[in-house]
Amino acid sequence: MTERTYYQKPYEKNWEAVVTAVLPHKKLWAVTLDSTLCYPEGGGQPGDRGVCGSYTIIDTIKGGDEVLHLFADKPKLKVGEKVSCTLDWDFRFDYMQQHTGQHILSGVMYRELGIDTVSVHQGETYTTIEVDRDEVSGAEIELIEHHANSMITRNLEIWCDEKSDEEFDAGTLRRAPKVKGMIRLVTIDDCDIVACGGIHTQRTGEVGLISCIGVEPIRGRVRLVFMIGKRAYRDYREKNLIISELTNLYSAKQHEIVTQAQQKVEQIKELQCQISMIEKHYAQKLINSALASADEVQGVKLVVLDLTGEPSGLLKIISKTLPEGVSFVICLLQENSPSTVQWLIASGGSASIDFNTVRSELFSLIGAKGGGRPPLWQGVGTKVEGKESFLAAFTEIQKRS
Ligand SMILES: [Zn+2]
Repeated sequence: MTERTYYQKPYEKNWEAVVTAVLPHKKLWAVTLDSTLCYPEGGGQPGDRGVCGSYTIIDTIKGGDEVLHLFADKPKLKVGEKVSCTLDWDFRFDYMQQHTGQHILSGVMYRELGIDTVSVHQGETYTTIEVDRDEVSGAEIELIEHHANSMITRNLEIWCDEKSDEEFDAGTLRRAPKVKGMIRLVTIDDCDIVACGGIHTQRTGEVGLISCIGVEPIRGRVRLVFMIGKRAYRDYREKNLIISELTNLYSAKQHEIVTQAQQKVEQIKELQCQISMIEKHYAQKLINSALASADEVQGVKLVVLDLTGEPSGLLKIISKTLPEGVSFVICLLQENSPSTVQWLIASGGSASIDFNTVRSELFSLIGAKGGGRPPLWQGVGTKVEGKESFLAAFTEIQKRS
């Protein structure tokens, strides 16, 4: 049975231990020691990482009465061997901040707003708390942040007691304990008391800073997303850099950026509208001009054009602005990139196209795919080198029909 010294010595980083077993564990290897400072995953807190001898502990989990230290490869350790071990302190302290921060937050939400915590997740990027509400307002978020950070500023003491469930009144806890018998109670001064098996900082001041960065819907409730501890400082620094870049970009002060951005969005919408009108006008003019100078085959104007070099997306615009009141057949190609060519075939007025013949005789020339229905067909081809043959063959089909 592993002696779990992480509870008595949550700030110790190095320890000596004797190897009690080396065994395969799924696709990894596990080592048990006679004692450990590594906290095994539980209660939403991830398992510790560190070094055992010269081997990297990638995770720590519970294994019955033992604590399993996991390794990617089989470590060359022997049972009975004494090893020096070191905790990955940055990793551990980060999660001590996340976990203690979550206690502070759940306590504040319960005390100040009567909000219960449903579940918690301490992720690699942020900590989330799912609450028993379908909405938490901006004003409530501000209040939660204010009280949580006030608890941090007051640097309150946090302590743990092991008590039998008969020794205390479960009604005094923020939430009912999930286990029976001996219970580990975690108390934050006179603010919060709850049963918990995790690792906490000794004082609230060590949590540093708490910031709510989002509210997400989940299973009919909401989940609050928090940056806690060093992560909150990193996030603040990152946001400062973004604001700094935006103030330069807009030549505006911080509080003016949103208004500036809204104005730019409106301008872009207006410009897009204007561009769309110009494109439509251009497409109509191009087709009308081509029809004016086109050859006539049995009273039908024949337009066959390679529009490579024209603005991209032109064929799509032409497809929506085909002329009316004139009999025509058009075949247009436009190279999109060195490896693709867009095609469009259409008819108007009394003219018609035998598309089955087009497909069987022309498609292979440009490796065409696509289709449509009378009077419009379009698609993309992959053999750019076949453009000229495609246009010539289309002309031939129309002249012989
Ligand atoms: Zn805890």
